[in-house]
Amino acid sequence: AGVGGGIGGSAGGCGGASSGSGSGLPLLVQRTIAKQIHLVHSIGKGRYGEVWKAKWRDENVAVKIFFSTEEASWSREIQLYQTVLLRHENILGFIASDIKGTGSWTQLFLVMDYHEYGSLYDYLHQHTLDLVTLIKMAVSAISGLTHLHTEIHGTQGKPSIAHRDIKSKNILVKKNLTCCIADLGLAVRFISDTNELDIALNTRQGTRRYMAPEVLDESMEKGHFESFKQADMYSMALVMWELAWRCNAFGPVEEYQAPYYDMVGGDPSFDDMKRVVCVNGSRPHVMQRWMLNEIMRSYTNIMMECWSVIPAARLTSLRVRKSLTKLKGQLRDVDALERV
Ligand code: ADP
Ligand code: MG
Ligand code: MG
Repeated sequence: AGVGGGIGGSAGGCGGASSGSGSGLPLLVQRTIAKQIHLVHSIGKGRYGEVWKAKWRDENVAVKIFFSTEEASWSREIQLYQTVLLRHENILGFIASDIKGTGSWTQLFLVMDYHEYGSLYDYLHQHTLDLVTLIKMAVSAISGLTHLHTEIHGTQGKPSIAHRDIKSKNILVKKNLTCCIADLGLAVRFISDTNELDIALNTRQGTRRYMAPEVLDESMEKGHFESFKQADMYSMALVMWELAWRCNAFGPVEEYQAPYYDMVGGDPSFDDMKRVVCVNGSRPHVMQRWMLNEIMRSYTNIMMECWSVIPAARLTSLRVRKSLTKLKGQLRDVDALERV
């Protein structure tokens, strides 16, 4: 089942026992984990299976159970989580993988840290955000994406990773209201030194609503790894818009809406999105009031630079992280002044 197993971690199976970062628990522990897991309730259904809240040795964990027909997706996602040096506070923590059952009835497990609030998509339906929380969520999400995108050179280095399915449903909200990036099922890895690219076996693409214009009009330069990262930045800009939409700092907040909610239906087709994003050149609506506050104006400008139709004109994740971190500092200064 291994795809380009040369890049980080091991192909297919359960990975090294002590390679540390990214590989979760030691192999022998992983092999016994499924037996010790008690499923509590279902959290979400996906294309590949179902995610459950579960108990493992008194601890809450999340278990993604893949259909037995989706073994390739399961092993691909494990493989991504086992990437050397992947672990980061803003990337969903991987605990273990295991197989339960035999023969015709097998369950493929992926065990991960459990986050009570669930996805950012769910969180934004139920909560509005003050400006501090908005910036905190944005900084943490982009920090996770920056860590994915950044290549670390050397023999124990980390490949550059493009996510390819950035959206609010694939970002989780932690207890302290920072975010972490989840669902690495579509990610691709790249090592620049050897020009090694590993593309997922499945040719499935990301979520249509979040697809960058160059993905929609099929003009993306797929031989150039930077293109995948640039497409991630477009999707992240839409997530930044979702956050802004639910910010309560500048007047009454409207209920949660998905990006392009006023231009396409609930399950837009490829052609719907292409018409709106490429032909009409539309982007999510920017509220006038976002431009009246200095910090919010900067945030909005960063967001708009990231959804440029020209991939190379988009800011990099590192640049966005730096700019948003600066805004976070400014907010703290304002806050300090107000308390004097
Ligand atoms: P799929 O590949 O099927 O989209 P995901 O990994 O994105 O599966 O998970 C589907 C949904 O399950 C997420 O959108 C989120 O709502 C929920 N979920 C996934 N992982 C966790 C977790 N670790 N903690 C809490 N909720 C989670
Ligand atoms: Mg998902
Ligand atoms: Mg997935």
